[in-house]
Amino acid sequence: MSADKGPPNASALRDRVAAGEATASGFLNEAFALADMIGANDADGLNILLGHDRAWSRAQAEAVDAKARVDDAGPLAGVPVAIKDNLVTEHLPTTCGSRILEGYISPFEATAVRKLREAGAVIVGKTNLDEFAMGSSTEHSAFGPTKNPVDPTRVPGGSSGGSAAAVAAGLCRIALGSETGGSVRQPAAFCGVVGIKPTYGRVSRYGLVAFASSLDHVGVFGATVDDAALGLEVIAGHDPRDATSAVQPVPSLRAAGDAPLFGVVIGRPREYFPPNLDPRIAAACDDALEALRSQGAQVRDVSLPHTDLAIPTYYVLAPAEASSNLSRFDGVRYGARIEGDGLRGMYEATRSKGFGEEVTRRILLGTYALSAGYYDAYYRKAMQVRRLIAEDFDRVFASGVHVLLTPTTPSPAFKIGAMSDPYEMYLSDIFTVTANLAGIPAMSVPAGHVDGLPIGVQLLAAPFDEVRMLAAGYAVERGREERA
Ligand code: GLN
Repeated sequence: MSADKGPPNASALRDRVAAGEATASGFLNEAFALADMIGANDADGLNILLGHDRAWSRAQAEAVDAKARVDDAGPLAGVPVAIKDNLVTEHLPTTCGSRILEGYISPFEATAVRKLREAGAVIVGKTNLDEFAMGSSTEHSAFGPTKNPVDPTRVPGGSSGGSAAAVAAGLCRIALGSETGGSVRQPAAFCGVVGIKPTYGRVSRYGLVAFASSLDHVGVFGATVDDAALGLEVIAGHDPRDATSAVQPVPSLRAAGDAPLFGVVIGRPREYFPPNLDPRIAAACDDALEALRSQGAQVRDVSLPHTDLAIPTYYVLAPAEASSNLSRFDGVRYGARIEGDGLRGMYEATRSKGFGEEVTRRILLGTYALSAGYYDAYYRKAMQVRRLIAEDFDRVFASGVHVLLTPTTPSPAFKIGAMSDPYEMYLSDIFTVTANLAGIPAMSVPAGHVDGLPIGVQLLAAPFDEVRMLAAGYAVERGREERA
């Protein structure tokens, strides 16, 4: 597998716990000491973690240690993990970064979280995010922005910025995030870690608080490709509790690390390399392509002609679905309630005080797009264009291309507060939203630095072909290690 240099992979930590050479409790204590040092739980520090309970985490670690002494403690035994705070957990609160859910504790646990725990992982805490996962910077959290561990004057990306920062800072090896339009890949690129959005249906969404259900995915961060692959391997698989979860066998994803690239065809879609792309980002992509070529892959230029329609399409569909999904937060069933004049007044007070500005904007946009008279012009049209975008990918993959390589983001992490125009922020999702619209697997792998800040390359593959995507991901990572 990858990474002989640098810190050991999560699987190596796990092996040490299994062999009795290290303990889950020991790893957890290291994580807590680091959390204190960087202000992970502190709004004035890096502000990475929201809900956490050290005594509860310690009890989990002790249970893993006790099991490891007598039995196989699982593929993630003792590995510290963090969970985006829109995945429900039984003991820790789930806020979605919103005032409206303050104090809410779920009566059940998300499937992906349960699978991590059953594999022996120890939860360090819940991570900060843009409110209801709407945003690209983690600045839209009701609990203050998370800062990028690489440069605390900059955003970590979003919406899963807390999870990306947790891995980048070394608080955990693996973290869960969610993706509706790039919320794992973009922060992974900004923080210099690996982020995977699997195929739609590959990982159960049971217990993921819905933003836009047809675009939502659970995703995973890792410090290395191998860590992310291991995390995905653990959480993937069919779940009868999620009607959209796929009945598909889960292949060994980590085996992709040993897969040769001979016969693998990598496509370079010209629409993702526009003339105004930062030449340093283009050069990083070319280096990654060269690394793939030198390990046996072929590279081909391809075209995805409907790419420029992705942002408007996404920003009709995602708010439309959100307006429907978020109607359940009305002060009756979940979290905060603010009294008003009668029942209607209570709904109004709760929703107008409970939701922040960006969430309110999306609900209004979405309600408009779905309203009588406008549905055909906006929602239906966007659904039709979504099909065209998906067909672009179908055509390229049917032509014998296996993996596409693009930049993950048009720029490295921006300064906190620098992107105040929401439309400008929406445009920064340009390279990532297409994979959510098409439901195909995608990942970001660190690809160097621009102005001292990390950037990522994105790899995309056909539905359920995570293995080939990861084979390319391991190869890009190996290429950088060899050049280092
Ligand atoms: N940045 C995008 C948005 O604001 C994507 C968010 C996400 O993937 N959850 O909608």
